[in-house]
Amino acid sequence: MTDSNPSDGVEPSDPAVAVVGGGAVGVTAAHDLAARGATVTLFERDDLASGASGRAAGVLYDAYAEDVDAAIGARAMERFRRFDRTLPGFEFTPCPYVIAVREGDEDAEAVPGMVDRMREHGRDVSVVDPDDLGERFPLSTSDLAAAAVGEGAGWADPGSYVVALGERAVREGVTVETDTEVELVADAGATLRVDGTEQAFDAVVVAVGAHTERFLEAGGIAVPVKPYRVQALTSRVPYDGPMTYDATAGVYFRPHPTGLLAGDGTEPFEADPDAYDSEGDDWFVENVSTALRERADYDPEVERAWAGVCTATPDKDPLLGPVADDVFVAAGWQGHGFMRAPATGEILAEGVLASLSGTAIGDDDSPWVEAFDPGRFEGDEEFEIEEGMSVRNR
Ligand SMILES: Cc1cc2nc3c(=O)[nH]c(=O)nc-3n(C[C@H](O)[C@H](O)[C@H](O)COP(=O)(O)OP(=O)(O)OC[C@H]3O[C@@H](n4cnc5c(N)ncnc54)[C@H](O)[C@@H]3O)c2cc1C
Repeated sequence: MTDSNPSDGVEPSDPAVAVVGGGAVGVTAAHDLAARGATVTLFERDDLASGASGRAAGVLYDAYAEDVDAAIGARAMERFRRFDRTLPGFEFTPCPYVIAVREGDEDAEAVPGMVDRMREHGRDVSVVDPDDLGERFPLSTSDLAAAAVGEGAGWADPGSYVVALGERAVREGVTVETDTEVELVADAGATLRVDGTEQAFDAVVVAVGAHTERFLEAGGIAVPVKPYRVQALTSRVPYDGPMTYDATAGVYFRPHPTGLLAGDGTEPFEADPDAYDSEGDDWFVENVSTALRERADYDPEVERAWAGVCTATPDKDPLLGPVADDVFVAAGWQGHGFMRAPATGEILAEGVLASLSGTAIGDDDSPWVEAFDPGRFEGDEEFEIEEGMSVRNR
C-alpha cells in the first residue's frame, strides 16, 4: 500500500496496483508494472495459467491487416523473440504461417487486398501461387484458390510463458496470491474484497478473461464481453511442415513436441465460464482429422482434445483501458489474446501509470489505444459472436 490516499487525485510515486487474473495478460501487466516502479499484487483464483492461457494453441504471428493490430502484433513478436533469449523456461520457435483458401470460397478474393494491407504495415507476408506453395511445403495445394505466407511467425507453449514470466514478476517484487478469488466492490473505485475484507488500491487491473462480464457486473460495471468455447487437439504423428490456417475448413495446425497441434472448433454462442465442457467434441476431432488428411496428407492419432473459453466483443476489438475511476479492463481478444499479450500487457502497465498521473486516453502522449477504449460501448450492446481468425476479420 502507498502513503497516498488512493482517492486524493495526486500521482502516487509508488502506486499500489492490484492485477486480477494470472493469465498471459495479467502476468505481463503485473511484471511490466513492477518493472516501472509500481507495488503490485497479482490475484489468481486458481493457479497461474489455469484459464484460457493454459489451454491456448500458442500460434503466434504479426500478420494483421489493420494498422493498430499490426503494430501490436509486431511489438508482441519482438518481445517473444527477446524472451526466448532472456526468460528462463520460455522458448519461441520461428515457423512460417500459411493462410490457405479453397476454390469456391469467396474469401479467396479478399486475400490479395488483405496481404497488401499487411505489407503496408511492414509485415513480411506474401501472396503465393498454390503450386509454388506445394513446392515449398509438404501441403496439398491443388484445390486452393489463394494462399499467403507470413514469414515473421512462430509458436510457443502458452503455459510456460505465464509461469516463466510469473517467476520473473516475483523477482521484480510482485506479490502473487494464487488460490485467491477476489471481487470488485461496487461503487468504491479501486477496492477489492479479498478473503472477506475490503482492500483499497491506487488502481485495479481486471484481466480475468472469460469471467470479465461477470466480474465487472458484480462491481456495478457493464461491458459487452461474451465468453465462447473453442477447441484444440494434439496428435502423436510427427509433422514438420509450416503452421497452416485452412480458412475454408476453419482449421489451423502447427508442429508440436508430441507431433502436431490443431484447433479452432469455435462455437459461436455464449458459454458459461464456470460450467463449460472442457473436453473436445467428437465433431471437432472429426472436422480437424478430415482437414488434416485433405491439406497435409496427415492421419492424426489424437493424444488429447480439449476446449477453453475465449472472449468476443461487438466490433471484434478488445476492451483495453479504464472502465471506472482507477479500474482498468483488458479482455475481448477474439481468440488472439496470447499472441498479443506481451504488447497488450505492456500497454496496460504504461496506460495505468499514465492514467494515474492524469493523462487522458485521447492525449497525444497517452499509451492507450483509442480504438480499444472501453468507453466506446454502453455495456448493454446485443451482438453475435464471430470467430476472430477468418480472412475477413483479420
Ligand atoms: C483452445 C484454445 C486455443 C487458443 N489458441 C490461441 C492461439 O493460438 N493464439 C492466441 O493468441 N490465442 C489463442 N487462444 C486465446 C487465448 O488463450 C486467450 O486470448 C488468452 O489466453 C487470454 O489471456 P488472459 O490473460 O486475458 O485470460 P486467461 O488466461 O483466461 O486468464 C484469466 C485468469 O483470471 C482468473 N480469474 C477469473 N476470475 C477471477 C477472480 N474473481 N479472482 C481471481 N482470478 C480470477 C482465471 O482463473 C484465469 O486464470 C486460444 C484459446 C483456446 C481456448
